[in-house]
Amino acid sequence: MKINFEKLKLFFLTLFAILVGSKKVKPVEIGIYIEDNVDPEFVKNSLCFVPHYWNFTFLTEAPKYRKMGGEWETFLIPEADDTVVIFNGTLRNVKYAGGATGKSVGVSRFITDTSEHVFGLRIWHELLHAQHIDADAMIRCPEFEDWLEPQFSSALKDNKVAFEHSMQYQILFYNFLTWKLIKR
Ligand SMILES: [Zn+2]
Repeated sequence: MKINFEKLKLFFLTLFAILVGSKKVKPVEIGIYIEDNVDPEFVKNSLCFVPHYWNFTFLTEAPKYRKMGGEWETFLIPEADDTVVIFNGTLRNVKYAGGATGKSVGVSRFITDTSEHVFGLRIWHELLHAQHIDADAMIRCPEFEDWLEPQFSSALKDNKVAFEHSMQYQILFYNFLTWKLIKR
């Protein structure tokens, strides 16, 4: 009998996953490119706030960018899937902090962006969009309200306007969305 080692390995991995009760999810491999004069250390530190559902490799060559019009004209979004570009939004005079088209992402660092944490959340937000998930829907997502611990849930329900831009709630929401991605 010919043994298919790949299948055998998969069988044991699956069995192991069932036994330990968790499914091993391979991270989405993302190529990331830094344009302009954006500090690579700042970007690297920001990526520490993005969960390991994504894994980043720095590209040494600039990707091809999409042609965009209107108020997105100077904004950079790569053509290739699973590719992220970080650029200087002040220099390029862009209107938006982040954008996703298809499965690729552009994130702008403005001169006022000094927090690696806030910048990391911006990257995470756009990566969720690139998975075709509505990362803007925090205050209109009943499933998120159910997922939250009751005291957090009722605080949110009681005052959605106050919490709409709360970083704490955004973090909880992105965690919820990423948790759903892993479970699907
Ligand atoms: Zn968004």
